[in-house]
Amino acid sequence: METRDIVTRLNTLSEQLGQMQTELETIIDEWGKELIKNQDLQMENHYLRERVNQLLANDQPEEKEAAPEEKDGQRSPALQNLLNIYEDGFHICNISYGQRRENAEQCMFCLDILYGMEGKR
Ligand SMILES: [Zn+2]
Repeated sequence: METRDIVTRLNTLSEQLGQMQTELETIIDEWGKELIKNQDLQMENHYLRERVNQLLANDQPEEKEAAPEEKDGQRSPALQNLLNIYEDGFHICNISYGQRRENAEQCMFCLDILYGMEGKR
């Protein structure tokens, strides 16, 4: 093998190593972002679960009979909060609550909570 060939191959190899290092850094960077995103989602999920539990607990005390506070077209604040969460793109139903609604798909269970409760006033 001639010296020139060796030098050429070394240069090529060095270039490839450089590209691989760049790619490795990119992957590590993306991995880090995924971890952060995952953690954010877990915190968000946790927060939303607590919020839903709070809201459901507040709404529980069988105030159905004694609730003329809901005038026509007005929702109770708890229900309004749930609706806000739902409209922000999250489930509020027991099946998958706290999770994002993919592509803002409607969820029958969520709707049942929102509009089922409204119907029972
Ligand atoms: Zn749902």
